[in-house]
Amino acid sequence: MILTDELLLQYKRCHRRAFLNVYTEESQQPSEKNQFLLKLTEEREFHSQQVVENYGLPYHQPKTLTKDKENNLTLALITENLMRQGVECIYQGVIIYKVKNFIDTNQEVTFIVSPTLLIKQDIPSRWGDWSYFSVNTHLGKNIKPEYKLISGFQGDILSLFQGINLSHCQIFLRNNLKPYYLNLSIWIPASRELVKEFTLMIVQKKEPDVFISRQRCSFCQWYDDCYSLAKSQQHLSLIPGITPKRYNLLTSEGINNLENLSQAKIWDLNRILDKDMANKIYLQSQSLVSHQAILKNPTLPIIPYHPIELYFDIEAEPDRNIDYLLGVLLVNNETQEKKYYTFLAETLIEEETIWRGFLKFISQYDDAPIFHYSQYEVETIKRLAYLYKTPSLPLQSLLNRCWDLHKIIINSFYLPVENYSLKSIGNWLGFHWRDPKTGKISSHNVRISGDQCVFWYDQWLKTNDRTWLNYILVYNEDDCLGTYELKKWMDKELRVKN
Ligand code: SF4
Repeated sequence: MILTDELLLQYKRCHRRAFLNVYTEESQQPSEKNQFLLKLTEEREFHSQQVVENYGLPYHQPKTLTKDKENNLTLALITENLMRQGVECIYQGVIIYKVKNFIDTNQEVTFIVSPTLLIKQDIPSRWGDWSYFSVNTHLGKNIKPEYKLISGFQGDILSLFQGINLSHCQIFLRNNLKPYYLNLSIWIPASRELVKEFTLMIVQKKEPDVFISRQRCSFCQWYDDCYSLAKSQQHLSLIPGITPKRYNLLTSEGINNLENLSQAKIWDLNRILDKDMANKIYLQSQSLVSHQAILKNPTLPIIPYHPIELYFDIEAEPDRNIDYLLGVLLVNNETQEKKYYTFLAETLIEEETIWRGFLKFISQYDDAPIFHYSQYEVETIKRLAYLYKTPSLPLQSLLNRCWDLHKIIINSFYLPVENYSLKSIGNWLGFHWRDPKTGKISSHNVRISGDQCVFWYDQWLKTNDRTWLNYILVYNEDDCLGTYELKKWMDKELRVKN
């Protein structure tokens, strides 16, 4: 059995993912198609380079010393050789350590770890008067338990490999060149527990259940397989509001799928969940089973209807701290005409220009309501107004015209959707996003998110190829159109209910 630090990280994030990666032939595994992940890999490399430069140490990089760059065995031999020589710093080294009959499983486990850096220190080891501690880089801005566990695991293997007890290692977070010192006397035992759990899962060959979580699954290469399985099982994780903890509570009472939940008695649910949550989950399941929207309370929300309405959506690049596209769909309800306007920063210094262009445009329709689908638009308006010194009077009047349809919808309706993203609701309403690459509506739901736009904008900045910008414009226009479709549905629904 082989356990790498990467595989252990996958296990920590999702047991099922690690299991599928171990027990599926490599040729049968779905490929990592997401371009945003490629961007993250590049960024991590860049961050690591900055950390290396910050140390100011001469370093050796095993990958540059061999043609066999992907072969861990070769890289491990080079790394070991460099450690024995006592070089100051090793960048992207590989360490392999084998344990026979690991935790009495009769298995030989090969551990493979690849810390970002190995740095020499004056503590004796099997090499002589020196040894190495590990340094890891991560793109997160805050320290997470998974970072600590992986560093704990690497620290453990590095200690065993060198025949010493390392006391600490370092972690560098994004945009921060001050190290976080990790106490290995705490995190080695914690990582051993995780390794033990992983090993037992592999030895017992017990496939972990699927659990779809939007945040965790959206970048996973197994998503299509897992989603089909969850769909076929009417899995509870496809119901908004069901967290892993609530899932365990429900299944322990024999409520295993949507049908069971929709037929459950509300007083039974009240026994296992708090009353409010029980009611929410119950009504959500009723909406899904009946394919109907259900009003949450008798007081109907008020949303304006106006001859001219504006639908607003923003694209941003958080790493560069820029809101580079302010997209507005103008709808004339009297003529049914729709026109899409864009305020696009083609360079990183044009944010102020597009903000002023947007304000000028909006001021031509000064009594038109502005609909958007998240809190982000209002937060961005405030940020840009502050940054570019927009007077408070026009700012306040602009904010007064903003209507967050996401907030209104989640406070007012249960909808037969798996989540309350604009895409899910839009698809339920029969609106389909175009595939930005072909400009055509695809027969299957296009899985594109704002993260994909971050990658496209990055490509535009690097290549100056307008194709990337065109993808973003198609995507943003469809977000505005999707918001408009939702507003139309809400108008109709509220008219009927009134
Ligand atoms: S799609 Fe989700 S549940 Fe399936 S393996 Fe990936 S992270 Fe795990």
